Amino acid sequence: MSDTSSVLRIVWIYPDLLSTYGDQGNALILRRRAELRGIRTEIVHVHSSDAVPVEGDIYLLGGGEDRPQILAAERLRADGGLKRAAERGAAVFAVCAGYQIIGESYGDDADNPLPGVGIIDIRSGRGETRAVGEIVADCDPALGVGRITGFENHQGRTALGPSARPLSQTVKGIGNDGHTEGAYQGQVLGTYLHGPALPRNPELADMLLRWRVGQIQPLQPSWGEQLHEERLAAAL
Ligand code: GLN
Repeated sequence: MSDTSSVLRIVWIYPDLLSTYGDQGNALILRRRAELRGIRTEIVHVHSSDAVPVEGDIYLLGGGEDRPQILAAERLRADGGLKRAAERGAAVFAVCAGYQIIGESYGDDADNPLPGVGIIDIRSGRGETRAVGEIVADCDPALGVGRITGFENHQGRTALGPSARPLSQTVKGIGNDGHTEGAYQGQVLGTYLHGPALPRNPELADMLLRWRVGQIQPLQPSWGEQLHEERLAAAL
């Protein structure tokens, strides 16, 4: 957490543009799992007309349609706050449209490349088919997260440059390209797992918390773990 405060600051970027799939669930589950460990939290909503604060701990970006996605990318680039926050080591968790725009470039609806925020070494463009459905993937063992599950709905495909690592290998679904799903670089992470990806994957939520607060105590398995198991069983 930032030295100036003992409160974990969860910054939800642009709920007015990037919140198509219940993305608020990600902020709520981070808060819940932090507070169960006695960590105080604050959720900061940053609308697209607001400046992005640089002193947050975990920044969340959700999914969106093509037009709001372009607007969000333009505003984030002009603002500069997210990039500065990432440079000072904040964690970033970005979903789908949010994932694409934190990269070096992404495609608009005619697949013209547009510049992204440039905090992770990925490039996205349009695929020939839309990737829609349940997705199951095995995370990079270095992350200690295991198997994740979610729902994807995107036209884009994503290629990783040498500085980014795949978040996971796909077992089912498309993800980046049919082989890997998501990417991370330092504490910046993006995924095609939609909306409330963190409620469906509590281990991923805990990993983001560990990135900011260090060791955290394990929790008794609860509905979150149960949901994870149920969705895995249903998807495979
Ligand atoms: N417009 C992007 C795509 O189709 C992102 C869509 C989304 O966030 N679901 O790839």
